[in-house]
Order: sequence, then C-alpha cells, then structure tokens
Amino acid sequence: SAAIEEPISPPVQVKYSQLLINGKFVDAASGKTFPTLDPRSGEVIAQVAEGDSEDVNRAVAAARKAFDEGPWPRMTAYERSRILLRFADLIEKHNDEIAALETWDNGKPLEQAAQTEIPMLARLMRYYAGWADKIHGLVVPADGPHHVQVLHEPIGVAGQIIPWNFPLLMFAWKVGPALACGNTIVLKTAEQTPLSALYVSKLFLEAGLPEGVLNVISGFGPTAGAAVASHMDVDKLAFTGSTSTGKIVLELAARSNLKPVTLELGGKSPMIIMDDADIDQAVELAHFALFFNQGQCCCAGSRTFVHERVYDEFLEKAKARALKRVVGDPFRKGVEQGPQIDEEQFSKILHYIKSGVEDGATLVTGGTQAGTKGYYIQPTIFADVQDGMKIAQEEIFGPVQSILKFKDLNEVIQRSNKTRYGLAAGVFTNNLQTANTLMRALRVGTVWINCFDVFDAAIPFGGYKMSGQGREKGIDSLKNYLQIKAVVTPLDNPAW
Ligand code: ADP
Repeated sequence: SAAIEEPISPPVQVKYSQLLINGKFVDAASGKTFPTLDPRSGEVIAQVAEGDSEDVNRAVAAARKAFDEGPWPRMTAYERSRILLRFADLIEKHNDEIAALETWDNGKPLEQAAQTEIPMLARLMRYYAGWADKIHGLVVPADGPHHVQVLHEPIGVAGQIIPWNFPLLMFAWKVGPALACGNTIVLKTAEQTPLSALYVSKLFLEAGLPEGVLNVISGFGPTAGAAVASHMDVDKLAFTGSTSTGKIVLELAARSNLKPVTLELGGKSPMIIMDDADIDQAVELAHFALFFNQGQCCCAGSRTFVHERVYDEFLEKAKARALKRVVGDPFRKGVEQGPQIDEEQFSKILHYIKSGVEDGATLVTGGTQAGTKGYYIQPTIFADVQDGMKIAQEEIFGPVQSILKFKDLNEVIQRSNKTRYGLAAGVFTNNLQTANTLMRALRVGTVWINCFDVFDAAIPFGGYKMSGQGREKGIDSLKNYLQIKAVVTPLDNPAW
C-alpha cells in the first residue's frame, strides 16, 4: 500500500451548502448547520444547513404546489425529456468539478468518480429522458358495451432518502424515473455526503427544471429523513440504506398515509468460484467485487465461496492481489482505495475484523488502519471463514474479504441462500450447466456470471428477501412512480 500522505488540496470549492427549496437555496428554518467532514482527515469541509421537519414541510409544500399547479406534470413529455437531456449535458460539462466534490466529501478515488460515477449519472438521465415520452396507458377489452382505458399518471410528490456510498448514482436512480414520469420530489441526502447533490441540482435548474420540482434537504435521518417518510402529503417513498433503517421508514410510511415504499437495502452477496473457472480472472473480479468503493457497496461480494480443488491457489493469488492494492489519497492518480466514509464506519469495520479473529478465522493479510490519519483501512482477507461467524453473516461495508471453502454445487447453493439477504451473487464457471443451475437456484435480485458490478441503466436492480422491495433502473423502476387509473365509458353503439 502506498503511504498516506498529507491530504492533497481538492481542485474544487464548495459553492452550495444551503437547502434547495422551491428553486432557491435557503437556510434551515432553525438556522442550524452541521459540518460535513473530509474522510481523509476528519477535518471540516463546510458547514451545511441542517434541515429538519419544518424544512421538510416547506419542501413538501413546494413540491405539492409544483405538482398540483405547476407546469411540470402538465408540460409535454417531450419537453420534460429535453430538460433531462440538457441536464445530462451540463453534468458532462462540469464532470471534473462534480467528481472532485464527490471525492472530497466521500473519499472515493477521483478517477472512479470522474470516469464511472458521474458519467453514469449522465447516462441514467439520458436513459430516463428516453422513457419520458414513451410512458403511456392502454385500451383494454371490455365484457360489455364499454370503452375501457387505463391511464398511467404520475403518482405525485415523491420522497426519496439516499445513502452516502454513491451519492450521485443514488441521486440518479431516484430522481431519473420520478422526473421522467412527471412527479415532483423531496430528496433527503445522507448527512455524510450532502454536497454533490446540491451542486447538480443547481445544474437541473439551469437546464430548465421548474422551481419546486426538485427540493433537496440536507440533514439527519431521525429528524429530516423521518419527516419525509412520515409526511402526510408525500405520495411515494423510495429509500436506499441499511435494512434496519428500511424497516423504520416502512413503518413510518404505514403509520402515516400508507404511501407505497420501495426499498433498496443491505446484502451479503455470495461470490461463487467453481473449480473449472478461470482462476486469475476470478481472483481479480472477486477482489473488485469486494474492495470496490472501499467495500462500501450494498451488493459487495462479501462471501467468497471457493471450490476446495482451487482453494489454495485462489487464496494465494487473492492475497497477492490485496497486497498490491494501492491505498492512498483519493485525489492521487493510480489510487484504488481511499478512506472509509467516517469514524463510525471505520470503527465498525475494525470491530468486525476483531470478531473475525476471535471467531477463529485466519487473518491472511491486513487487519488494521492504514496510515495514521483519516479513516483508511488496509485491504483485509480472512480465510477459513465458517458460515456461522459474524463476518459471514453481517454486512461489514468495508475492505474485508471473507473466503469460505466448499465441496460441491448443492452445498454451495444451500450455503449461499442461507442468509436473510438476497441482493446479488457472482458465479464463476466455464460450465454452462453449472452456470444455469446456479443462476436459477440463487435467491437474489442480480446474478453476475463471470463478471460483477455491471450496472447499465436498463438492468433492473433490487433485492429478494430482506434486501429490499421493488426494483430500480430499467423499465421496472417506472412502475414505482406511476399511478394506474381505469376509465370506463358506455358505448352507444357497441358495433364501433
Ligand atoms: P448507513 O448505515 O449506510 O448510514 P442508513 O440506513 O442509516 O444507512 O442511512 C441511509 C439514509 O437513511 C441516510 O440518508 C440517513 O440519514 C437516512 N436515515 C437514517 N435513519 C433514518 C430514520 N430513522 N428515518 C428516515 N431516514 C433515516
């Protein structure tokens, strides 16, 4: 691992730190602010307006008005589509500045933000721009002399709560389909990463988005987040975050106005390496599947199941790869891994590492902080992990790879499925029969075969079991933001 140097000065400044309500940046009603921190050092980047229930009320009122009276749901779908396209162009134009802001607030390598996450934001907007004027209802056959139409209408004010691991990708998954369908939005960003959403929302206004259509509230979960989830005038809730918080917001939605909820939650995804796999490729992709984004992915391949015939070779190569991983300042070129998001996650991960050792797993490499400053953690590997261990059961959300040995296909299917989660799985094999069997047997929302973390805009993403409800991206995401209305009229002349 490269030494962790004095933090490099970020090539960007914070322009927007207030709440975005009704097309204007405003202070919180309480006047309160909170600091957002640089994960490289723990130092304050900026003070950000701290929204709470009063601000959520203001934002919902603005979104309500923009929906009930504003031009947005009434303009042509083509006009909405063009605003999304103009926004995508502006994202591309400001790619480097947005990426730098994302890296500063989140700690992810700048190259990944600039080359992957921000381009994906633009790509997703263009994908949904393409849908905007292709969303339409049906005329269905009737049993009697009736003309029957089914209208697809926007659902209204969408409340959206997002996490800190991919601030702008999560923004895109939520905002894209909601706007394409003609809804208005109150978005609550994660308290760890409020900056980039404010920046891009300003670009949305520049692209022609009418005021009140997209309102952005920075603030904390139990205050601002809970106010969105329980608001009587929010018509739909979309949440991404931990399973435990998912349960809370679902309950808040039920207790208030029964708003429909989509949830994208945690995972403990298996990565299955069969003995006929290309081992070098499997090592590299299993490494990527776990360590990508500092291990902070809901779909991280966090249980690496390796067939006993290739286990020793795999382990040796996985260790060599982890030792080669470049940890360092995320603004430095060539760095693969930056710091974890904050002190809380950092301590939690070190706690899981301790529990792995105590439970008797073999610590192969890593295991401690990297450097002495900020929230960097060494790429860590455990071997001989058993299913019952905490590190094999719970979401670590950090750079800790757990390697488990298996003997045959049926065994690995059963062990893979023995979890409350069901988000994703990776399968490595060159045998078509094995691939087909695994693909059908795994109870997960995504199966990547001989690949991992492929996130095209058209691919639906979401979880089985306690990994979530509903799907995002792709055609399925539109359903989350549409209301269905049946309209029946009598026919005077049934012959026509
Ligand atoms: P993580 O552990 O990844 O931070 P959380 O599920 O706690 O995951 O956070 C995801 C999002 O949910 C954040 O925007 C956070 O502020 C919000 N959140 C946390 N607690 C609540 C809550 N009680 N009600 C509503 N939103 C919440």
